[in-house]
Amino acid sequence: MSFLSLITGSFSQPASDNPTGAMIEAAFRHAGLDARYLNCEVAPEGLADAVRGAKAMGWRGFNCSVPHKLAVIDLLDELTPAAAIIGAVNTVLIRDGRLLGENTDGKGFVESLRTRVEPTGRHVLIFGAGGAARAIAVETALAGAASVTIVNRAFARAEALAAHVAAHTPASAHAERWSEGYAVGAGVDVVVNATSIGMHPQHDVTLDLDPQCLRPGIVVADVIANPPVTALLRLAESRGCLTLTGLGMLVNQGVAALRLWTGLEPDAAVMQATLESALQVSAKN
Ligand code: NDP
Repeated sequence: MSFLSLITGSFSQPASDNPTGAMIEAAFRHAGLDARYLNCEVAPEGLADAVRGAKAMGWRGFNCSVPHKLAVIDLLDELTPAAAIIGAVNTVLIRDGRLLGENTDGKGFVESLRTRVEPTGRHVLIFGAGGAARAIAVETALAGAASVTIVNRAFARAEALAAHVAAHTPASAHAERWSEGYAVGAGVDVVVNATSIGMHPQHDVTLDLDPQCLRPGIVVADVIANPPVTALLRLAESRGCLTLTGLGMLVNQGVAALRLWTGLEPDAAVMQATLESALQVSAKN
Protein backbone atom coordinates (compact mmCIF):
# COMPACT_ATOMS: atom_id res chain seq x y z
CA MET A 1 0.00 0.00 0.00
CA SER A 2 1.38 3.40 -0.98
CA PHE A 3 -0.03 6.75 0.05
CA LEU A 4 2.02 8.54 -2.63
CA SER A 5 -0.04 9.60 -5.66
CA LEU A 6 1.35 9.99 -9.18
CA ILE A 7 1.27 13.74 -9.83
CA THR A 8 0.89 15.53 -13.16
CA GLY A 9 -0.52 18.95 -13.99
CA SER A 10 -0.50 22.00 -16.19
CA PHE A 11 1.21 25.38 -16.16
CA SER A 12 -0.54 28.20 -18.03
CA GLN A 13 -1.97 31.70 -17.71
CA PRO A 14 -4.91 32.12 -17.66
CA ALA A 15 -5.60 28.61 -16.33
CA SER A 16 -9.18 28.94 -15.10
CA ASP A 17 -10.81 28.14 -18.48
CA ASN A 18 -8.65 25.05 -19.12
CA PRO A 19 -10.85 21.90 -19.02
CA THR A 20 -7.96 19.42 -19.51
CA GLY A 21 -7.73 18.53 -15.79
CA ALA A 22 -11.32 17.27 -15.65
CA MET A 23 -10.69 15.08 -18.70
CA ILE A 24 -7.36 13.65 -17.48
CA GLU A 25 -8.56 12.99 -13.92
CA ALA A 26 -11.61 11.15 -15.34
CA ALA A 27 -9.20 8.92 -17.27
CA PHE A 28 -7.10 8.32 -14.12
CA ARG A 29 -10.22 7.35 -12.13
CA HIS A 30 -11.48 5.10 -14.93
CA ALA A 31 -8.12 3.28 -15.03
CA GLY A 32 -8.14 2.91 -11.22
CA LEU A 33 -4.91 4.93 -10.92
CA ASP A 34 -4.05 6.87 -7.77
CA ALA A 35 -3.02 9.93 -9.77
CA ARG A 36 -3.70 13.66 -9.84
CA TYR A 37 -3.61 16.46 -12.44
CA LEU A 38 -3.16 19.92 -10.92
CA ASN A 39 -4.20 22.85 -13.09
CA CYS A 40 -1.83 25.67 -12.02
CA GLU A 41 -1.90 29.37 -12.90
CA VAL A 42 1.75 30.24 -13.62
CA ALA A 43 2.97 33.61 -14.87
CA PRO A 44 5.92 33.76 -17.31
CA GLU A 45 8.30 34.94 -14.56
CA GLY A 46 7.31 31.94 -12.42
CA LEU A 47 7.73 29.22 -15.04
CA ALA A 48 11.32 28.24 -14.14
CA ASP A 49 10.39 27.91 -10.43
CA ALA A 50 7.27 25.89 -11.32
CA VAL A 51 9.33 23.47 -13.43
CA ARG A 52 12.00 23.14 -10.70
CA GLY A 53 9.18 22.57 -8.18
CA ALA A 54 7.58 19.83 -10.27
CA LYS A 55 10.94 18.09 -10.55
CA ALA A 56 11.70 18.48 -6.82
CA MET A 57 8.27 17.12 -5.86
CA GLY A 58 8.61 14.08 -8.06
CA TRP A 59 5.85 14.94 -10.54
CA ARG A 60 5.62 12.46 -13.43
CA GLY A 61 5.19 15.30 -15.89
CA PHE A 62 3.13 18.31 -16.89
CA ASN A 63 1.46 20.14 -19.74
CA CYS A 64 2.40 23.65 -20.81
CA SER A 65 -0.16 25.87 -22.43
CA VAL A 66 -0.35 29.58 -23.33
CA PRO A 67 2.07 31.40 -22.90
CA HIS A 68 4.73 28.81 -21.99
CA LYS A 69 4.99 26.44 -24.98
CA LEU A 70 8.15 28.08 -26.35
CA ALA A 71 9.73 29.39 -23.14
CA VAL A 72 9.69 25.96 -21.45
CA ILE A 73 12.15 24.56 -24.02
CA ASP A 74 15.11 26.33 -22.38
CA LEU A 75 14.27 24.56 -19.10
CA LEU A 76 14.31 21.00 -20.53
CA ASP A 77 17.07 18.39 -20.99
CA GLU A 78 15.88 16.99 -24.33
CA LEU A 79 13.14 17.13 -26.96
CA THR A 80 11.47 14.42 -29.04
CA PRO A 81 12.29 14.77 -32.78
CA ALA A 82 8.76 16.08 -33.55
CA ALA A 83 8.87 18.66 -30.73
CA ALA A 84 12.27 19.81 -32.01
CA ILE A 85 10.87 20.35 -35.53
CA ILE A 86 7.68 22.02 -34.25
CA GLY A 87 9.74 24.22 -31.91
CA ALA A 88 7.14 24.13 -29.13
CA VAL A 89 6.35 21.81 -26.21
CA ASN A 90 2.98 21.10 -24.64
CA THR A 91 3.87 17.94 -22.68
CA VAL A 92 6.87 17.21 -20.46
CA LEU A 93 7.85 13.80 -19.05
CA ILE A 94 10.12 13.75 -15.97
CA ARG A 95 12.12 10.51 -15.97
CA ASP A 96 15.18 9.73 -13.82
CA GLY A 97 15.49 13.43 -13.00
CA ARG A 98 15.59 14.43 -16.69
CA LEU A 99 12.96 16.50 -18.48
CA LEU A 100 11.83 15.36 -21.94
CA GLY A 101 9.70 17.76 -24.03
CA GLU A 102 7.07 16.45 -26.46
CA ASN A 103 4.35 18.13 -28.50
CA THR A 104 1.09 16.17 -28.62
CA ASP A 105 -1.07 18.92 -30.23
CA GLY A 106 -0.32 17.98 -33.84
CA LYS A 107 -0.42 14.24 -33.09
CA GLY A 108 -3.83 14.75 -31.47
CA PHE A 109 -5.01 16.55 -34.60
CA VAL A 110 -3.75 13.83 -36.96
CA GLU A 111 -5.37 11.07 -34.87
CA SER A 112 -8.62 13.01 -34.99
CA LEU A 113 -8.27 13.68 -38.75
CA ARG A 114 -7.91 9.94 -39.38
CA THR A 115 -11.54 9.49 -38.27
CA ARG A 116 -12.47 11.39 -41.46
CA VAL A 117 -9.61 10.83 -43.92
CA GLU A 118 -6.10 9.33 -44.05
CA PRO A 119 -3.61 12.24 -44.43
CA THR A 120 -1.31 10.35 -46.85
CA GLY A 121 -1.12 12.10 -50.23
CA ARG A 122 -3.64 14.80 -49.24
CA HIS A 123 -3.44 18.52 -49.94
CA VAL A 124 -3.95 20.36 -46.67
CA LEU A 125 -4.70 24.08 -46.28
CA ILE A 126 -4.22 25.63 -42.84
CA PHE A 127 -5.50 29.04 -41.75
CA GLY A 128 -3.15 30.39 -39.05
CA ALA A 129 0.59 30.36 -38.35
CA GLY A 130 0.67 30.30 -34.53
CA GLY A 131 1.46 27.40 -32.19
CA ALA A 132 -1.50 25.20 -33.14
CA ALA A 133 -0.95 25.76 -36.88
CA ARG A 134 2.74 24.97 -36.51
CA ALA A 135 2.07 21.65 -34.74
CA ILE A 136 -0.65 20.65 -37.24
CA ALA A 137 1.42 21.63 -40.29
CA VAL A 138 4.45 19.62 -39.15
CA GLU A 139 2.54 16.52 -38.00
CA THR A 140 0.24 16.30 -41.06
CA ALA A 141 3.35 16.66 -43.24
CA LEU A 142 5.19 13.95 -41.25
CA ALA A 143 2.04 11.77 -41.52
CA GLY A 144 2.39 11.83 -45.32
CA ALA A 145 0.41 14.84 -46.60
CA ALA A 146 1.53 15.71 -50.13
CA SER A 147 1.32 19.47 -49.66
CA VAL A 148 0.64 22.03 -46.95
CA THR A 149 -0.59 25.55 -47.76
CA ILE A 150 -0.44 28.19 -45.04
CA VAL A 151 -2.81 31.19 -45.10
CA ASN A 152 -2.37 33.72 -42.31
CA ARG A 153 -3.33 37.32 -41.51
CA ALA A 154 0.35 38.24 -40.97
CA PHE A 155 1.78 36.98 -44.28
CA ALA A 156 5.40 36.94 -43.09
CA ARG A 157 4.46 34.35 -40.44
CA ALA A 158 2.75 32.22 -43.11
CA GLU A 159 5.89 32.37 -45.27
CA ALA A 160 8.14 31.44 -42.34
CA LEU A 161 5.99 28.45 -41.38
CA ALA A 162 5.72 27.19 -44.98
CA ALA A 163 9.50 27.45 -45.40
CA HIS A 164 9.99 25.57 -42.11
CA VAL A 165 7.66 22.72 -43.17
CA ALA A 166 9.32 22.46 -46.59
CA ALA A 167 12.78 22.34 -45.00
CA HIS A 168 12.02 19.78 -42.26
CA THR A 169 9.42 17.38 -43.70
CA PRO A 170 8.94 15.45 -46.96
CA ALA A 171 5.83 17.53 -47.90
CA SER A 172 5.86 20.51 -50.24
CA ALA A 173 4.67 23.72 -48.60
CA HIS A 174 3.88 27.28 -49.59
CA ALA A 175 2.19 30.40 -48.22
CA GLU A 176 -0.73 32.32 -49.70
CA ARG A 177 -1.99 35.81 -48.89
CA TRP A 178 -5.34 35.98 -47.07
CA SER A 179 -7.24 38.21 -49.52
CA GLU A 180 -10.84 39.32 -48.86
CA GLY A 181 -13.33 36.50 -49.56
CA TYR A 182 -10.40 34.05 -49.89
CA ALA A 183 -11.19 31.09 -52.19
CA VAL A 184 -9.72 27.72 -51.18
CA GLY A 185 -8.13 26.08 -54.26
CA ALA A 186 -9.95 23.27 -56.10
CA GLY A 187 -7.26 20.67 -55.31
CA VAL A 188 -7.46 21.06 -51.52
CA ASP A 189 -8.72 17.97 -49.61
CA VAL A 190 -8.52 19.23 -46.02
CA VAL A 191 -9.16 22.77 -44.69
CA VAL A 192 -8.13 23.54 -41.12
CA ASN A 193 -8.94 26.58 -39.02
CA ALA A 194 -5.93 26.85 -36.69
CA THR A 195 -6.60 30.49 -35.77
CA SER A 196 -8.47 31.55 -32.64
CA ILE A 197 -11.36 32.90 -34.77
CA GLY A 198 -14.70 31.55 -33.52
CA MET A 199 -13.55 30.84 -29.97
CA HIS A 200 -16.05 31.41 -27.12
CA PRO A 201 -17.67 33.95 -26.80
CA GLN A 202 -17.37 34.71 -30.59
CA HIS A 203 -19.88 31.99 -31.54
CA ASP A 204 -21.00 33.63 -34.81
CA VAL A 205 -17.64 34.87 -36.08
CA THR A 206 -16.01 32.93 -38.90
CA LEU A 207 -13.14 33.05 -41.37
CA ASP A 208 -13.19 35.51 -44.26
CA LEU A 209 -13.57 32.99 -47.10
CA ASP A 210 -15.78 32.37 -50.13
CA PRO A 211 -18.44 29.81 -49.00
CA GLN A 212 -18.68 28.44 -52.57
CA CYS A 213 -15.15 27.07 -52.32
CA LEU A 214 -16.18 24.62 -49.59
CA ARG A 215 -16.95 21.71 -51.90
CA PRO A 216 -19.03 18.70 -50.81
CA GLY A 217 -16.83 15.86 -49.56
CA ILE A 218 -13.76 17.85 -48.51
CA VAL A 219 -12.83 17.79 -44.82
CA VAL A 220 -13.19 21.02 -42.83
CA ALA A 221 -11.61 20.88 -39.37
CA ASP A 222 -11.55 23.43 -36.56
CA VAL A 223 -9.11 23.59 -33.65
CA ILE A 224 -11.60 25.49 -31.53
CA ALA A 225 -12.99 23.20 -28.83
CA ASN A 226 -15.25 25.74 -27.14
CA PRO A 227 -17.80 25.96 -28.72
CA PRO A 228 -17.29 22.55 -30.38
CA VAL A 229 -19.48 23.43 -33.38
CA THR A 230 -18.17 26.75 -34.67
CA ALA A 231 -19.76 29.01 -37.30
CA LEU A 232 -17.18 27.65 -39.79
CA LEU A 233 -18.27 24.07 -39.14
CA ARG A 234 -21.96 25.01 -39.44
CA LEU A 235 -21.21 26.60 -42.83
CA ALA A 236 -19.12 23.61 -43.94
CA GLU A 237 -21.86 21.17 -42.92
CA SER A 238 -24.46 23.14 -44.89
CA ARG A 239 -22.16 22.86 -47.93
CA GLY A 240 -21.90 19.05 -47.63
CA CYS A 241 -18.33 18.95 -46.26
CA LEU A 242 -17.11 16.37 -43.73
CA THR A 243 -16.53 18.29 -40.50
CA LEU A 244 -14.23 17.75 -37.53
CA THR A 245 -14.48 19.65 -34.25
CA GLY A 246 -11.55 20.68 -32.04
CA LEU A 247 -12.76 18.32 -29.31
CA GLY A 248 -11.17 15.29 -30.97
CA MET A 249 -7.80 17.07 -31.13
CA LEU A 250 -8.08 18.09 -27.48
CA VAL A 251 -8.99 14.56 -26.37
CA ASN A 252 -6.28 12.93 -28.48
CA GLN A 253 -3.51 15.30 -27.34
CA GLY A 254 -4.51 14.31 -23.79
CA VAL A 255 -4.51 10.61 -24.71
CA ALA A 256 -0.96 10.99 -26.08
CA ALA A 257 0.18 12.82 -22.92
CA LEU A 258 -1.35 10.13 -20.69
CA ARG A 259 0.37 7.37 -22.66
CA LEU A 260 3.68 9.16 -22.17
CA TRP A 261 3.19 9.66 -18.42
CA THR A 262 1.66 6.28 -17.48
CA GLY A 263 2.45 3.84 -20.30
CA LEU A 264 -1.26 2.94 -20.23
CA GLU A 265 -3.86 3.23 -23.00
CA PRO A 266 -6.48 5.61 -21.55
CA ASP A 267 -10.18 5.39 -22.36
CA ALA A 268 -10.69 8.16 -24.94
CA ALA A 269 -14.51 7.85 -24.80
CA VAL A 270 -14.53 8.58 -21.06
CA MET A 271 -12.25 11.56 -21.66
CA GLN A 272 -14.41 12.92 -24.49
CA ALA A 273 -17.66 12.58 -22.47
CA THR A 274 -16.10 14.40 -19.50
CA LEU A 275 -14.77 17.15 -21.72
CA GLU A 276 -18.12 17.65 -23.43
CA SER A 277 -19.96 18.01 -20.15
CA ALA A 278 -17.24 20.32 -18.75
CA LEU A 279 -17.44 22.57 -21.81
CA GLN A 280 -21.26 22.73 -21.74
CA VAL A 281 -21.02 24.04 -18.20
CA SER A 282 -18.33 26.59 -19.07
CA ALA A 283 -20.24 27.75 -22.18
CA LYS A 284 -23.31 28.50 -20.03
CA ASN A 285 -21.33 30.41 -17.40
P1 NDP B 1 -1.43 31.70 -31.35
O1 NDP B 1 -1.65 32.96 -30.59
O2 NDP B 1 -0.08 31.09 -31.41
O3 NDP B 1 -1.89 31.95 -32.89
C1 NDP B 1 -3.11 32.57 -33.18
C2 NDP B 1 -3.37 32.52 -34.68
O4 NDP B 1 -4.69 33.03 -34.93
C3 NDP B 1 -2.40 33.37 -35.50
O5 NDP B 1 -2.18 32.75 -36.74
C4 NDP B 1 -3.19 34.68 -35.68
O6 NDP B 1 -2.83 35.39 -36.85
C5 NDP B 1 -4.59 34.13 -35.87
N1 NDP B 1 -5.64 35.11 -35.55
C6 NDP B 1 -6.06 35.49 -34.32
N2 NDP B 1 -7.06 36.40 -34.42
C7 NDP B 1 -7.25 36.59 -35.75
C8 NDP B 1 -8.15 37.39 -36.51
N3 NDP B 1 -9.03 38.19 -35.91
N4 NDP B 1 -8.10 37.34 -37.85
C9 NDP B 1 -7.21 36.52 -38.48
N5 NDP B 1 -6.33 35.73 -37.82
C10 NDP B 1 -6.36 35.76 -36.47
O7 NDP B 1 -2.50 30.69 -30.78
P2 NDP B 1 -2.47 29.07 -30.87
O8 NDP B 1 -2.01 28.69 -32.23
O9 NDP B 1 -1.80 28.51 -29.70
O10 NDP B 1 -4.03 28.75 -30.71
C11 NDP B 1 -4.95 29.01 -31.75
C12 NDP B 1 -6.29 28.37 -31.38
O11 NDP B 1 -6.13 26.96 -31.33
C13 NDP B 1 -6.81 28.80 -30.00
O12 NDP B 1 -8.19 29.08 -30.12
C14 NDP B 1 -6.59 27.57 -29.15
O13 NDP B 1 -7.57 27.46 -28.14
C15 NDP B 1 -6.75 26.46 -30.16
N6 NDP B 1 -6.06 25.23 -29.78
C16 NDP B 1 -6.79 24.09 -29.73
C17 NDP B 1 -6.21 22.92 -29.38
C18 NDP B 1 -7.04 21.68 -29.32
O14 NDP B 1 -6.54 20.67 -28.81
N7 NDP B 1 -8.27 21.67 -29.82
C19 NDP B 1 -4.78 22.81 -29.04
C20 NDP B 1 -4.08 24.08 -29.16
C21 NDP B 1 -4.72 25.24 -29.51
P3 NDP B 1 -1.60 36.45 -36.85
O15 NDP B 1 -0.35 35.65 -36.96
O16 NDP B 1 -1.86 37.29 -38.06
O17 NDP B 1 -1.70 37.22 -35.55
